Amino acid sequence: MKYALVDGHRHEAAVGLRGVCQGCGLPTTAKCGQQRVHHWAHRTANCDKWWERETVWHREWKNEFPVECQEIRISSSSGDFHVADVQTPNGIVLEFQHSPLPLEDRQARESFYVNMAWIVDGRRKGSDFTSFAHSLSFAAPDYGNVRGWRLPLVRCAIAENWSIALSTVYLDFGDTMFPDKGGPSFSHKELPCGGILWRVTKAPNERIVITPFLRQSVIDHYMRGTPLDGFDPHPRPANGLWDYRSID
Ligand SMILES: [Zn+2]
Repeated sequence: MKYALVDGHRHEAAVGLRGVCQGCGLPTTAKCGQQRVHHWAHRTANCDKWWERETVWHREWKNEFPVECQEIRISSSSGDFHVADVQTPNGIVLEFQHSPLPLEDRQARESFYVNMAWIVDGRRKGSDFTSFAHSLSFAAPDYGNVRGWRLPLVRCAIAENWSIALSTVYLDFGDTMFPDKGGPSFSHKELPCGGILWRVTKAPNERIVITPFLRQSVIDHYMRGTPLDGFDPHPRPANGLWDYRSID
C-alpha cells in the first residue's frame, strides 16, 4: 500500500513510521528497503484479498492521479470493503492490473465497483508484446471514427483474455517500438512509439477491435470527462468494403 493513516492522515511509508491500514484499522509497518517500492504492509495478511503486490508500474500509474484519488477505500452496503487503486472525482474506479486475473475475480471486481476501467500491464511477459505486435501487423483495419484494427480472437492471448471484460480495458505496452514486419495493415510508422494505451473491445464474428489512444488523453478522460484522443481513421475503400460485416 502506498498510504496508511498516521495520526489520522494518509501518509507514505517512511523509515521508522508507524501507521494503521485505512481499510481495516490494524497496525501497518513501513517497508523502505532497496528491493521494492516503499510501501506499508500489514503484520499479517492484507485485509483486502484483492490486493496485488505493488510494482513500480503500479506506483507510476497511481502517481498520474492526484493524491486524493489514489488508494480509495470503497465499501458496499453489506459492509464489504476494498481499496481501489484510483477513484476519480466522478466516481470511476481504475484498477491497474499487473498479474493475470482469473475471470471470476475480474467479474467480482466489476460487479463490486460497477463503474470501472482496467489498465493492464502488457509488459509483464515478453510473449504478450510479441504476439500483440505480430497480430497487429496482420490485422485488418477497423473503419471506426478513429484508427483501429480488428484481430481474430485467437491470435493474441492477452487481448483475447481481456476482451471478455465487462468494463473498458486498456493494454499498456509502455514506450515500446513495434517491429515493422511489413504486414498488410499496421505499420509502426503510423503511430508514435510511446505514450499510447490500446483499448480492447470485443466485436462480432469472433473479432477483437484494438484502438490506440494517447495515454494522457485516457488519464484526462477519466479525470475530467474529456474525449479520448485517438488517431486519424483509416481511409475507407471506395468499393464499400469498409463495412466489416461484409468482409469478416
Ligand atoms: Zn487492512
